[in-house]
Amino acid sequence: MKMFCAGQWQDTKQSINVTNPFDQSVIDTVPQGSGEDIQNAVGVLERGAQIMKSMTAYDRSVILQKAAELMLERQDDLARTISLEVGKILGEGQVEASRSADVIRLSGEEARRMTGEMIPLEGNAGGKNKLGFTLRVPCGIVAAITPFNFPLNLVCHKVGPAIAAGNAILIKPASDTPLSALKLTEILLEAGLPPEAIACVTGPGGEIGRAICTDTRIRKISFTGSYEVGTKICEMAGMKRVTMELGSNSPVVIMDDADLEKAATAITMAGYANAGQVCISAQRILTSSKVKTDFVDLLKSKVDVLQTGNQLEEGTKIGPMVRESDASRVEQWVNEAVSQGARLITGGQRQGAIYAPTILDDTTPEMQVVKDEIFGPAVALSYFDDIDEAVRLANDTTYGLSAGIFTQDIDRAMKFARQVESGNIHINWSSQWRADAMPYGGLKHSGTGKEGPKYAIHEMSEEKMVVMHLA
Ligand code: NAD
Repeated sequence: MKMFCAGQWQDTKQSINVTNPFDQSVIDTVPQGSGEDIQNAVGVLERGAQIMKSMTAYDRSVILQKAAELMLERQDDLARTISLEVGKILGEGQVEASRSADVIRLSGEEARRMTGEMIPLEGNAGGKNKLGFTLRVPCGIVAAITPFNFPLNLVCHKVGPAIAAGNAILIKPASDTPLSALKLTEILLEAGLPPEAIACVTGPGGEIGRAICTDTRIRKISFTGSYEVGTKICEMAGMKRVTMELGSNSPVVIMDDADLEKAATAITMAGYANAGQVCISAQRILTSSKVKTDFVDLLKSKVDVLQTGNQLEEGTKIGPMVRESDASRVEQWVNEAVSQGARLITGGQRQGAIYAPTILDDTTPEMQVVKDEIFGPAVALSYFDDIDEAVRLANDTTYGLSAGIFTQDIDRAMKFARQVESGNIHINWSSQWRADAMPYGGLKHSGTGKEGPKYAIHEMSEEKMVVMHLA
């Protein structure tokens, strides 16, 4: 595919192969954009920002509603594209495609509800005869820098709200998975978005990323990706507004009164969906030592039947990881944990980019599989004696994106909800659940700012205070 830059579909001299991680076959090629392409794109987006500003919220919502309809019409193609470029199973590609259309539709609805606030100035000393209210106005140009693991949905979570708020949008999709974002760009243009108001520039994160972060014409960066890259972006971004949706090593706590069947089922999904490459994957499974044997046996029985293989074949539950190098990194971390005393309950083998679903038992806080974000199909089990120790272990991390607890006891559940430092808390479910409309974001090294169309619109618009000094 070509990239969409400076109002037109363009090629570059050099191109990048987009490959199917299952067999390394080339699915397509995309241009290798450069810093210069970003400068050209931003020049045209400046005009696009003016056009967007002059449109009404109703006009913008009509474009987004139309785009959502087109996405649903093309759901099968979008699902297959996602599945091919990421390696996730086709069923997961279908869910992502339909959720993505919903994010665009929700953004269109929220565009019509964007509003300011009356400020009661007369409640202030010296406020007599003053009438105050706020207006929300677009930022101008918003840049979306996105990761590989949800190559459509996470782009929609930025593009939808950016358009809803009246901005022009520059997309920099992940280098391994750019096709879904390019197809979304086609759809938005077809739905009536002015060509000046959107660009989707493909290419290496380092060069393109730097050009985006240092361009003062861009007013806002919305980034989803790793803590390491997020930190670099913040260092380069200067006075731009930033939203950072970063990684995690999410804890899930199983209390002694938990419904173990439900907990094991939820963790079987949350640890291994998309081969564990989900920011809110369940990674640290903290279990009451009273139910250790029962829970481990139950979890093993569920994980052992997960079939690995070609993501497009029916029956496959776990496809390849996005790159073979990622699978070998997971292999290395698991082997290292075993050499440090962890017990391998199941899994532990690698075939190319496919890593078998793995359970590690008796892990300790200093092991990398516990301390860092594993981002692969492996969970690390460890044990506690009471709720206070469970909370302490859950918080023993630099991250804070999502956490879950299984218990029948409302007091323990609420203690967990209040004391665990995490942007999302799930009671009687694992860390891995998200409704696209809810406020979603991390604490600590998991980021800053919120997504969910209503909340992202807030972050992608500026607030102006208007004061009327009445006679
Ligand atoms: P990544 O950080 O490697 O890359 C993300 C994006 O940044 C890509 O588009 C990449 O090309 C670009 N990039 C790379 N170097 C850059 C630079 N120097 N300047 C600017 N941009 C640069 O992440 P990834 O491997 O694609 O995705 C996995 C990570 O994303 C995990 O840590 C995961 O937890 C996180 N994630 C978080 C959420 C969330 O909502 N919090 C959702 C999905 C993924």
